[in-house]
Amino acid sequence: MHKRGIKKILVANRGEIALRVMKTCRQAGIKTVAVYSTIDKNSSHVKFADEAFLLGDAPAAESYLNAPKILEIAKASHSDAIHPGYGFLSENPGFVELVEANGIVFIGPSASAIRKMGDKTAARKLAKSIGIPVVPGTVEPVSSYGEAVSVAGEIKFPVLLKAAGGGGGKGMRIVNAVGELASALKGSQSEAKSAFGDDRIYIEKYIDRPRHIEVQILSDIHGGVIHLGERECSIQRRHQKIIEESPSVIINDELREKITRSAIELVKESGYTNAGTIEFLFDREKNFYFLEMNTRLQVEHPVTEMRVGVDIVREQIRIGEGRPLSLKQDDIRFNGHSIECRIYAEDPENNFFPSVGKILSLKSPSGFGIREDRGIEENDDITTYYDPLVAKLAVWGKDRNEAIERMASALDSYEIFGIRNNLRLCKWIMENPVFKKGDIDTNFLSSQFNLNLLPAVPEDILEAGAISAVLMRQMLPKLQSSSNGRPRSRWKSKMTDFFR
Ligand code: ADP
Repeated sequence: MHKRGIKKILVANRGEIALRVMKTCRQAGIKTVAVYSTIDKNSSHVKFADEAFLLGDAPAAESYLNAPKILEIAKASHSDAIHPGYGFLSENPGFVELVEANGIVFIGPSASAIRKMGDKTAARKLAKSIGIPVVPGTVEPVSSYGEAVSVAGEIKFPVLLKAAGGGGGKGMRIVNAVGELASALKGSQSEAKSAFGDDRIYIEKYIDRPRHIEVQILSDIHGGVIHLGERECSIQRRHQKIIEESPSVIINDELREKITRSAIELVKESGYTNAGTIEFLFDREKNFYFLEMNTRLQVEHPVTEMRVGVDIVREQIRIGEGRPLSLKQDDIRFNGHSIECRIYAEDPENNFFPSVGKILSLKSPSGFGIREDRGIEENDDITTYYDPLVAKLAVWGKDRNEAIERMASALDSYEIFGIRNNLRLCKWIMENPVFKKGDIDTNFLSSQFNLNLLPAVPEDILEAGAISAVLMRQMLPKLQSSSNGRPRSRWKSKMTDFFR
């Protein structure tokens, strides 16, 4: 099958990922169409795109999840393809079918591959059937409390209850003893039901202090499948990734060969095409278990791109066009080390709750080996409607030490005023001796970190910074224009330069 060339892409997303996809489109000479909600009307992805269309009000259900409206805009704008980014409709097989039924290319896997691999229990079953180790537990959702008790008895406590139909840590509960099981099961089911409309729960052995290591895959419709190495994503808070790096310090050539071979087998077996990620958990003895597949472009894909020098989105578009991958496995050169920090608008002092408000001033680092993916600018608002991700800061170094040093220095010159953020936490991690040694697992933060370890930023400094940023920006036009022909005073020039 050979699909037509793609000349215009509608990006069904917002924020940094919408912008990131559009930048590749522009480099490839492909026109872009943005969609946006009312509160995003002035946002970066809207300004960047060649065309932009309003979807609806701020709530995702009325905008970025409104599949029929997105399709209508795709047709009206004569878009050849839709790139879904991550989140929202990116892993929704019904959306894929709708798009394809209308003769538009969905830049991602087929609906059937999403059904096979996006459903956690179905994917576990498939992995197990071809001999890939999965975390011990059920491959079918549990149907009753009695079954849950007997499974937990077999695999031994602690166990983890997980939602079959969703992610983001929703519905996940650690259960340490049988006495906790009934209420945990109820809690998981109702959380999963309200988050995904699907209350199917399955049970896994809770692995003690695991490492999360995943393999990036690219697969075309001609049977070409390659991997772009692994990413380690063990630095997490409440099972959500904060820092990712490539390579992983514990993966030697032999282990890499094993996990990448398993990942490729799984992709081939499921008939999966486009970009995807196979996630594994590693226990303390370096046994690995298949965890799940993410059937989309991942948030953390820049660490892979920086290490291997491949534009994953460009390959996704090629695959969507029905062309073979531009690379063979032997073409991939793994070079140096890269690290990404997710910069979130969240308040460390308030249990990392999202910190909403206006970004009054923002200064981000640049320089050799530094990449920033950001869809938010000064004066933009962080709201409760969407993910509070401000930016992804990624660095490359010739080795892990150099990458850590570069990240620490980049974080030092990152300034955000107006909202609370996790910059200090990221910096603390870069300087932590345990992290530096690479002795990390998914419990790293809960075991190593407490708030007292963060250098305090006094309230008055935060406020003074925010107020002066606003005042100075308001004064800027005056500073620039009030010279009346006379040479400008030195402080005025300095201030103008500083706040430009
Ligand atoms: P989600 O789709 O909600 O992100 P995942 O299955 O990908 O859920 O798991 C997310 C994280 O939860 C993992 O990276 C790990 O930290 C933790 N986790 C998941 N399964 C287990 C397990 N069986 N034992 C220990 N930790 C787990």
